[in-house]
Amino acid sequence: MTTDPDANQQPFKVVVVGAGLGGLAAAISCLRGGCEVTILEQAPAISPIGAGIQIPPNAARVIQHFGLEQKIRDAGAIQVNANHLKRYKDGKILCSRLGGEKWIRDFNGPWYVIHRADYHGVMLDEAVRLGAQLRLNAKVVDITSSGTPQVVLEGGEVVPADVIVGADGLWSATRDIVLGQPSPPVPTGDLAYRGTFSRAQLEAFQDPSIDELIKSGCTYNWIGPDRHSVFYPLKNSTVFNLVLIRPDDLPEGSRTAAGDVDDMRMTYEGWDPVLTKIISCHTTVLKWKLCHHEELRTWVKDNIVLIGDASHPSLPYQAQGAAMAVEDGLVLGLLLARLQSTTTERLPDKRTSYINSILLLFESLRKKRTTTNVKGAIANRYMFHMHDSPEQEARDRELAEADWEKPSRWIWADIGYQRKMLGFDSVADTNRAFEVWLEEEGK
Ligand SMILES: Cc1cc2nc3c(=O)[nH]c(=O)nc-3n(C[C@H](O)[C@H](O)[C@H](O)COP(=O)(O)OP(=O)(O)OC[C@H]3O[C@@H](n4cnc5c(N)ncnc54)[C@H](O)[C@@H]3O)c2cc1C
Repeated sequence: MTTDPDANQQPFKVVVVGAGLGGLAAAISCLRGGCEVTILEQAPAISPIGAGIQIPPNAARVIQHFGLEQKIRDAGAIQVNANHLKRYKDGKILCSRLGGEKWIRDFNGPWYVIHRADYHGVMLDEAVRLGAQLRLNAKVVDITSSGTPQVVLEGGEVVPADVIVGADGLWSATRDIVLGQPSPPVPTGDLAYRGTFSRAQLEAFQDPSIDELIKSGCTYNWIGPDRHSVFYPLKNSTVFNLVLIRPDDLPEGSRTAAGDVDDMRMTYEGWDPVLTKIISCHTTVLKWKLCHHEELRTWVKDNIVLIGDASHPSLPYQAQGAAMAVEDGLVLGLLLARLQSTTTERLPDKRTSYINSILLLFESLRKKRTTTNVKGAIANRYMFHMHDSPEQEARDRELAEADWEKPSRWIWADIGYQRKMLGFDSVADTNRAFEVWLEEEGK
């Protein structure tokens, strides 16, 4: 094979479609590895959803790897002390995952909660600081891949690339291009109301039970028939996040809508009086149709790769969607950086000729893990949304016995499952896989 020494010196040109958390993580990781990065974002301005997000230990480790943990803390992230599951009727605690330092020991990382805008802001600033070219109002409408792959923007402009990263979320256009057919995500039958309110609103109740929740620094999930709700602090506990899940009544094809607060309260009638009080703090909420793909056939075509919600959208019932997206971004950047820095002695062909093979390696590394998450979220839905019944009573007894040493039938409380999900070391996994790949390719 001939070698083009010049081409082997050039940094890879990576075009990232979408400036969500997955796209930004990919941009940061690629830039840290010496690639050139352009981010194309359809929105005219960056305005992440005004709600909270959990950063479980596996995602916190990505943030640590990027050197951003202090910035996340400075941006108001709170280190969670525990996750609690509560019975819907009376708020009785069914099971707790005690966190803090224990999480760091068991899963090698802390668990944070943060406002999405703050998390996104830290990631965006870092991508730009490292040299990403961010283009707003840049909607990708097509990708052509004869010879050099290139992205086509609305308006006709063409942007060439060595690698195109489809990080364009749940309703990804890149996914349709990779699969060669429309591939809308599948409605799960659930929807989420998302909103935030102030600490002052909660304190105004002068209710000791609510004060206890405010001060605890914990996340709480009330679980009950066909519904559950998630409550946790944001912005150094000055703001609180409440998500309410319920059966989907949005028309087919619609993605979000303004939520009717009275309707929301009625949906939770008969639940723990503490929760119903908290719900009454909501003044405006948005309704989101929850969709997923249980497992997408393929994530790679030529030099195009899908990451994040574009490739493995899931129910948010393990708080892992964005965590998986940032892991994807980290892993992709590590692989491209390793490929780029590999010497011509070890890979004699032009390095760009190995990109497709590296993207397939990425897919093989990430698919199993992210599919486990999608299926785990479905399993949690079953466990959370049980109607009162002998099975629910058995569930509650088993949850009460969970001791974080022995296995549990319920993945939420199963230490083995959680070690795999939360304690996973993406960097070591990627480096190992790259060495094996190199061995094969370099032969
Ligand atoms: C109620 C709820 C709660 C959740 N809670 C958590 C949680 O606690 N923890 C967690 O880890 N995850 C959580 N998730 C999941 C998480 O929000 C998503 O998995 C994550 O945001 C996906 O990130 P992404 O970068 O892949 O996609 P997105 O954030 O959707 O970003 C995609 C970007 O691409 C842009 N785009 C789209 N099409 C184009 C185009 N054609 N051209 C250019 N740009 C385009 C979009 O404008 C957008 O900016 C939750 C989800 C929901 C619904």
